[in-house]
Amino acid sequence: MAQWMTGEVVENYAWNNELFSLRVKVPEPFEFIAGQFVRLGLQEGEQRFQRAYSLVNGPQEPILDFLVNRVHDGEFSPRLHDLRAGQAIQVSQPPTGFFTLNEVPEGDSLWLISTGTGIGPYLSMLSTMIPYERFKRIHLIHAVRYADDLAYQAQILDWVAAHPGQLAYQPVVSREDSAGALRGRIPALILDGQLEKALGDTLDANAQVMLCGNPDMIRDAKQVLADKGLPKNLRRKPGNVTVEHYW
Ligand SMILES: Cc1cc2nc3c(=O)[nH]c(=O)nc-3n(C[C@H](O)[C@H](O)[C@H](O)COP(=O)(O)OP(=O)(O)OC[C@H]3O[C@@H](n4cnc5c(N)ncnc54)[C@H](O)[C@@H]3O)c2cc1C
Repeated sequence: MAQWMTGEVVENYAWNNELFSLRVKVPEPFEFIAGQFVRLGLQEGEQRFQRAYSLVNGPQEPILDFLVNRVHDGEFSPRLHDLRAGQAIQVSQPPTGFFTLNEVPEGDSLWLISTGTGIGPYLSMLSTMIPYERFKRIHLIHAVRYADDLAYQAQILDWVAAHPGQLAYQPVVSREDSAGALRGRIPALILDGQLEKALGDTLDANAQVMLCGNPDMIRDAKQVLADKGLPKNLRRKPGNVTVEHYW
């Protein structure tokens, strides 16, 4: 059974009008594996709201960090969007989920593919030494609609500089041209070889792929990868593609 602790918002950082990072201080530190999520909850009179959110911070960091997109007609995310420093928020315990690197089999390359807020679990993973110790090449791919949705770029570029030749970052922007970014949808960019070309690497049997975010992207990318000989990774039948759906 999940327990709840009361945290305090220390910052609500706006990347743009819709995308924000909610930073929360909790009364006691808790352990989690990079890639896991918690539920955030708000009580309004008799009404209680709660939803799942991935932890973006590394397990070693004391302030919890959540990257959230305001869904305009959504029930919960607009309420999170309105929170300000000093306000209370409920955080479920313990953190849960299997979208973690210890569920990913061995391989030469690790492809961390996300849409929108789905980059969150990868940021937590990349703040630990685990991916760098396990994989020769790591590709972080972030697909968004507009360039100003490319959150955490400064942090990512610091990691790229700290792991030259090992970590690469490839933004993908679908609705406008942006310097250094590919344009289009992930499944199409895999299918026509543009993603592999941009990263100078091959999606073959030695690749491990993680997919996180929009379920349409995950469904279509899974199909394109299966057609290339990269099956879904299941506990009972290890494969190459590990997924986390956000809705
Ligand atoms: C394991 C897990 C981890 C998650 N982690 C995150 C996270 O780190 N950040 C985050 O923003 N959301 C995350 N979500 C989604 C989150 O739980 C909520 O569904 C989301 O915030 C919308 O809630 P809502 O009440 O505002 O919308 P609802 O009234 O519940 O409406 C849901 C609809 O909103 C849309 N939607 C849901 N999530 C998103 C999103 N992230 N971006 C764009 N559209 C969306 C979909 O169309 C969905 O059908 C996660 C979900 C799961 C299952």
